[in-house]
Amino acid sequence: MNLMLVDDEGFAIKLLTRQLAQLGYDSVQGYERAADAMAVLDTDAHGVDLVFCDLQMPEVDGVEFVRHLAHVGYRGALVVVSGEDDRILHAAEKLAQAHRIQVLGVLSKPVEPQRLRLIMDRFDAHRGSADSRSSHFFSASEFRRAIHDKALVNHYQPKVAMDTGALLGVEALVRWQHPQAGLVYPDQFIPLAEENGLIDALTVVVLEKALEQARAWQDAGLSLHMAVNVSMDNLAALDFPDMVAEQAARAGVALTALTLEVTESRLMRDMRTQLDTLARLRLRRVSLSIDDFGTGHSSLVQLRDLPFNELKLDRGFVTGAAHNESLKAIVAATLAMAGKLGMTSVAEGVETLEDWTLLHALGCDVAQGYFVARPMPAQDLPAWLQEWQSRWRGLANGMTA
Ligand code: C2E
Ligand code: MG
Ligand code: MG
Repeated sequence: MNLMLVDDEGFAIKLLTRQLAQLGYDSVQGYERAADAMAVLDTDAHGVDLVFCDLQMPEVDGVEFVRHLAHVGYRGALVVVSGEDDRILHAAEKLAQAHRIQVLGVLSKPVEPQRLRLIMDRFDAHRGSADSRSSHFFSASEFRRAIHDKALVNHYQPKVAMDTGALLGVEALVRWQHPQAGLVYPDQFIPLAEENGLIDALTVVVLEKALEQARAWQDAGLSLHMAVNVSMDNLAALDFPDMVAEQAARAGVALTALTLEVTESRLMRDMRTQLDTLARLRLRRVSLSIDDFGTGHSSLVQLRDLPFNELKLDRGFVTGAAHNESLKAIVAATLAMAGKLGMTSVAEGVETLEDWTLLHALGCDVAQGYFVARPMPAQDLPAWLQEWQSRWRGLANGMTA
């Protein structure tokens, strides 16, 4: 495991090297000149596993250095170190992520040993998962077969009312049960499906299973709203609303009990067809949710032009908002806007009691996230619900106390 430190202050390099040695990381190479570090990466970008980079440097600054990492195809991880304020650190982190570089975290100087240990724990965990992942490459034909062989399963994640704790519904999240790789998560095959014209087939399978499950719960006395993810590509087919209506009718589920969560992964030049299908779905009282709001192309333009009635705040704004004033301001403004537009607001990525308390105080309607429950197979839902109901009683007591 090779670590690289880039900092124009020799003293900072010495200090960090010593701190890393105390944690058991010995293979550390320090560079006072960014240009020297860049030369090393030029010849062997894959020989380095983790880079600590200072932002404020003469000659080449940290931002240029990050750009260079992306340029040479660096596949390791990055820690941004700086004496700058939080917002600059955050901007640098986002820039690196935009270049698809794994950012383990940001450290402000002087580096606290505890923060460093946290980051190195993350590094070890990330290496473990990256190793098991990179051994598999999925092809379009393999995925096509998976759809055909019914190797896709839905997991369900609860959405609960923040005021009452009531279980309102679930979101269906697809997984691929792969014969060798095990359970594969959607970020590893949705882009593949979109690029190879397989997203419609995928959506049909997910929707069908989700509606059957909603019906099964309904028969068992549990009436839940069912949310299914669709991509903008799905909405480019004019018969999409009819397909949805037919499937719901076949399963015996009312369209008012269905939500479609729309994500747009890439920019659409012409949205006329999507507007058409979304408007007709709304006319049939299907709920429409703008997913990952605040990221990528899920923006104010969409809110203005498309008939959404639910707004899902991206988890990038939710997780950790309790400790970050900028995030808090963005969340508060977005929730106020959703309220004025008469939309239901949902926070995704509610991971801690702190996240929950803040979102609730800011007026968010619905919560979803690890704090409430992880996505789970359908058969686990009843047991979770029992556990949640007793946990909720404790929470409600704690909140009024
Ligand atoms: P999404 O619709 O925004 O779904 C939420 C994702 O956040 C899920 O990841 C969920 O497991 C994860 N999540 C939930 N709570 C927390 C939390 O508290 N903390 C953190 N860090 N993460 C949390 P998952 O299942 O890996 O799905 C990723 C994305 O794949 C989804 O994001 C959705 O855009 C897409 N996707 C999933 N199923 C389908 C599908 O059937 N069709 C399409 N087109 N896209 C799908
Ligand atoms: Mg979603
Ligand atoms: Mg989302």
